[in-house]
Amino acid sequence: MAFTSFMDTALKEARAAAARGEVPVGAVIVCPKGKVIAQEGNRTRETNDPTAHAEILAIRAACEKLNSERLIGCDLYVTLEPCPMCAGAIAHARIERLYYGASDPKSGGVALGPRVFSHSQCHHVPEVYDGIAEQEAAILLKEFFGAKRG
Ligand SMILES: [Zn+2]
Repeated sequence: MAFTSFMDTALKEARAAAARGEVPVGAVIVCPKGKVIAQEGNRTRETNDPTAHAEILAIRAACEKLNSERLIGCDLYVTLEPCPMCAGAIAHARIERLYYGASDPKSGGVALGPRVFSHSQCHHVPEVYDGIAEQEAAILLKEFFGAKRG
């Protein structure tokens, strides 16, 4: 089966998050049949919830949709390297493949920082593909934080 990237949809969610005044990160979950079953952006400010990262919201929505605590065979696309909290949730959800865009030297937990999936305590390790549409994701973040500071 040909590879179809859903990063464009994740980037759309990231832009929508920026428009709401949230850190521009978007996430998409695709079921084994190749259909989008959840797409979310950050909502930590809107919901006063520090756990309302795009990945967490997408995992919650997808689990509700599939009526399961696990997302066996599902893929997750996210515009930024997941933080340790989200990486933990991805492992718990048994996500099959993780595709992410920009790396996150400040808060990343996959290739950087705690490297959650490399830890011996990690119960499930997804296949990880990084650098997908990295430029677009990084530019969004740079613009957002640049505008905040300026
Ligand atoms: Zn996170």
